[in-house]
Amino acid sequence: MKILRLILGDQLNSTHSWFSKVDENVVYCLFEMRQETDYVTHHIQKIAGFFAAMRNFGNDLKNNHHNVIYFKINDKKNTQNLTQNLSLLFTENSIQKFEYQSPDEYRLDKQMSDFCKEINIESEVFSTEHFYTERNDLGTFSKGKKQFLMENFYREMRKKYQILMVNDQPEGGIWNYDKSNRQKWNKEVLIPPQKNFDNDVSEIVKELEIASVKSIGKINSKYFEYPINRVQSLEQLDYFCEYLLMHFGDYQDAMHTDNVFLFHSKLSFAMNSKMISPIEIVDKVLETYRERKNEIDISQVEGFIRQIIGWREYMRGMYWMLMPAYKEENFLENHHKLPDFFWTGNTKMNCLKNAIHNSLDNGYAHHIQRLMITGNFALLTQIHPDQIDAWYLGIYVDAIEWVQLPNTRGMSQFADAGKIATKPYVSSGSYISKMSNYCGSCGYNNKEKTTKNACPFNSLYWNFLEEKKVQLASNFRMKMMYSLLGKIPASEIAEIQEKAHHIINHLDEY
Ligand code: FAD
Ligand code: SF4
Repeated sequence: MKILRLILGDQLNSTHSWFSKVDENVVYCLFEMRQETDYVTHHIQKIAGFFAAMRNFGNDLKNNHHNVIYFKINDKKNTQNLTQNLSLLFTENSIQKFEYQSPDEYRLDKQMSDFCKEINIESEVFSTEHFYTERNDLGTFSKGKKQFLMENFYREMRKKYQILMVNDQPEGGIWNYDKSNRQKWNKEVLIPPQKNFDNDVSEIVKELEIASVKSIGKINSKYFEYPINRVQSLEQLDYFCEYLLMHFGDYQDAMHTDNVFLFHSKLSFAMNSKMISPIEIVDKVLETYRERKNEIDISQVEGFIRQIIGWREYMRGMYWMLMPAYKEENFLENHHKLPDFFWTGNTKMNCLKNAIHNSLDNGYAHHIQRLMITGNFALLTQIHPDQIDAWYLGIYVDAIEWVQLPNTRGMSQFADAGKIATKPYVSSGSYISKMSNYCGSCGYNNKEKTTKNACPFNSLYWNFLEEKKVQLASNFRMKMMYSLLGKIPASEIAEIQEKAHHIINHLDEY
């Protein structure tokens, strides 16, 4: 029986059981398509990186004697549409059975399941063999519970996979070292040079230009610095374990004008394209910790592992539990437009300038920049979640909807009324000043609220609390903030709101 197997751009798992043996009746196909380059405006590095990784993957399969059909973006036969390309190959290659791996995005999953209902050959869907959990495990785990807290899920994961556990107790005596993961970085703690790969993607960039694919951001001398194959992915992991893990936890929330990546792993692109698995990453981190316990504290290791077996798996579970309605949620009824400076970095606010320039230049910003700088500002200025999603989904090399959407609409924008985060992640300038050196070289004064040079985050913060009282005042975790708001005299609140409204109405002037 002649079988066609589809490999999507984020399914580059060379350890998948599909590839354990060569079968001359099996043909693999990979497509670069306008369907994927155009559903949102992506960062140029994201498109080039995915295409480069897909091309490598296709070539490796060929070198290992598998049959491969690869459509490049400008190939004549390429219809630029997934199901049309598949139909074409069915006919041309007398295919009798179609097989694919579960897409992680709702959009593609639906496209595939609808397609399989229409075709007149047999079809079968396989696991991607990538995640710890199955798509619907979180739903099963949370059955009967009112809230699906990440922390509870994370503890179950630790127990189930016996990660940092001594019998049924957490190693070190506590489950979570989050409180010690909040240090401000200073230059005395040396950061080793970044691990960059000089992946030449100039050919791909040229082809994208010929195809007139619209994109955002820059690509530095046509090089893509993140891993684009399995060997590089493993090297990136080794580098992280060797040099960065030892300070990961301490500085995971820190931000600094001199360093984009600090002690972060830069593994998200490799992981989300499935060139490397979360299980391999956690195993290697644990092995490093066991070998170097005298140098590496458990708080660094726990802080990292929580992101992978906790947040990453939890976000995927929430996505599949809540889609497709999740994409429409707008609990706080925010309707403003994203300011133009999100696309240019052209703002006087130094924190935003840095976070946006990092994103435009590198297709990267770390978690706290995404949450507490750009996300915080978008929420305080009450931007419509659709606009925020489109920005986050386009700009980061690691952005795929199953992980981007719950992080953005849920964690960062509280548009889901608290299904993911128990309170909105908003702050005034004081948090930003505590965790970064941004305020020191900013024209705004982070101690002022209403003066000409006052930090915009300050008035926006109190205005947000005031305007969202109906939705938020009864939230237990907001009690302290609302009690502080209650102590501000009415005349001062009026001044603060006047200032905040001026900012919201003139966003591109700030
Ligand atoms: P590290 O800081 O080294 O962390 C290690 C790994 O942990 C990451 O590679 C990632 O796989 C995982 N991780 C950490 N935090 C999260 C999280 N909140 N959710 C899921 N996984 C997590 N991550 C994406 O992969 N794609 C996205 O589109 C994305 N969008 C985000 C949007 C917002 C508003 C926020 C607040 C976070 C988002 N994240 C997203 C999570 C996080 O910012 C990135 O995973 C991380 O910055 C990637 O860089 P790194 O590999 O150096 O991560
Ligand atoms: Fe950002 Fe305000 Fe600090 Fe400037 S003063 S960097 S705007 S937090």
